[in-house]
Amino acid sequence: MNAAELLSHHHLKKSSARISIIRALQELETPASEPEISNKMGIHYDRTTFYRSIQTMVEAGLIRKIVVDKLVVRYALRDKPDHAHFYCDNCQQLTCLEDIHPGPYRLPAGFQTRESDVIIRGLCNSCSNHLPIETIH
Ligand SMILES: [Zn+2]
Ligand SMILES: [Zn+2]
Repeated sequence: MNAAELLSHHHLKKSSARISIIRALQELETPASEPEISNKMGIHYDRTTFYRSIQTMVEAGLIRKIVVDKLVVRYALRDKPDHAHFYCDNCQQLTCLEDIHPGPYRLPAGFQTRESDVIIRGLCNSCSNHLPIETIH
């Protein structure tokens, strides 16, 4: 689906900011940070509009917001089945682990899942070649 189709699929109006955010996310391979997205958007980027637009698309379920330790925020299109992510403590890259599917979990009676993110932390394959895991204690 292209950006306009994704928006109408989620019953959202097509604004130029929303379209350029989606296009940027489609071009970027990994879950992307705000600076990575704004670089792709170029002149279409405006900070206030960005946050408003992305919030709307997160709430509509079009975009997944992944937060590591409250500080690291990445955005990705929600176009694949839910999967775990790997956060590298060294290079801060967030990688999709599409073969690892979290849940569904059997929760105690009365509990309802709104969101469930599985984030595994450690060293990615390229960092673990240079750095033994002991050094990040
Ligand atoms: Zn790494
Ligand atoms: Zn992912």
